[in-house]
Amino acid sequence: MLKRKTELFKLLGFKVSVDVSWGIILFLVIWSLAAGAFPAYYPNLTIQTYWVMGIIGALGLFISIIIHEFSHSLVARKYGMDIKGITLFVFGGVAEMKDEPETPKIEFLMAIAGPIASLLLSLLFGALYQAAVAIGLSLPIVAILGYLSAINLLLAIFNMIPAFPTDGGRVLRSILWWIKGDIRWATRTASRISVIFAMFIIFIGFMNMIQGNVIGGIWWVLIGSFLFSAANSSYQSLLIKQSFAGKSVKDYINPNPVTVPSHTTLQEFVDGYLYRYHYKMFPVTQEGRISGLITLNALKAVPQEKWPTMQVSEIMQKATKENTLPATMNVHEAMLAMNESGISRMLVEAHGKIIGIITLKDLLEFFTLKVELEA
Ligand SMILES: [Zn+2]
Repeated sequence: MLKRKTELFKLLGFKVSVDVSWGIILFLVIWSLAAGAFPAYYPNLTIQTYWVMGIIGALGLFISIIIHEFSHSLVARKYGMDIKGITLFVFGGVAEMKDEPETPKIEFLMAIAGPIASLLLSLLFGALYQAAVAIGLSLPIVAILGYLSAINLLLAIFNMIPAFPTDGGRVLRSILWWIKGDIRWATRTASRISVIFAMFIIFIGFMNMIQGNVIGGIWWVLIGSFLFSAANSSYQSLLIKQSFAGKSVKDYINPNPVTVPSHTTLQEFVDGYLYRYHYKMFPVTQEGRISGLITLNALKAVPQEKWPTMQVSEIMQKATKENTLPATMNVHEAMLAMNESGISRMLVEAHGKIIGIITLKDLLEFFTLKVELEA
């Protein structure tokens, strides 16, 4: 995943961040409220009033989504699960879990907490709306309360669509898991159902477009396609998380990688290592111990005529946080780190010493074998 999020604030020990996509969405929400929904339902107000209503409405939606995500996070924390933070995306938010829930009951309670919070918010704003109408508060206030009641109901319903990675998808998986006691089967079945639901939503979108509701139809198709790809990729990542559950980097380390002595010339390095093994990174040894690494990119930066005279030691990189993982790190986190940095071969360090390397390729091969054996 790309690093495109900005931290906003910390509350109850959770970091709340927004994805950059949220800037665009926020504007779209304000705009569609100020120029679309509010003028349509409540005509004869001034343009300025509509824009203020749009901004307050969007802010209310934003807070509602944060409350929804917090309810997931608080339930997770109650059961001892670590939540790294909350990130707001295009379609709501995501509470980032480090681990998967241990029992179907915890997963069920955690997943259902969000939609219940949205439903309660909808009822609350609904009651305020009724009260505002009864005592005759001004129209803009009534309109905003009505909107917040409706949008929270919509959030609750949308999140309960049984398609990964929505809350409904997780609720479905937890029920299947509880019935059969087999999390792998439950994950597979739930994600198959998710894909069918996503295709059904895309189908509804096309039907709408054919019947002339083009914009509404496009929205359905977009949401369906988003769910379709998310269902597939979150199934993969759930499988990966499960396969490596409780495992750390040291369990998959290669303790005897091909290493390059630091006094090797770059030409010898190209002929004897690069062309022979085809890796993009080699650990470099000094006096028999790994002390850094050399990469294909570092070599490419050196003009070819210098290769016969320059030594590996001159362009090697020291072990740093960016290219070295601690042996105790959990494998799933290590894979995320490799993914984020784009470095798929990393040094492994324990007690201040480099003890080997870990590669994404080895991890994926192990994963493929495991899935094949257990299929
Ligand atoms: Zn949720």
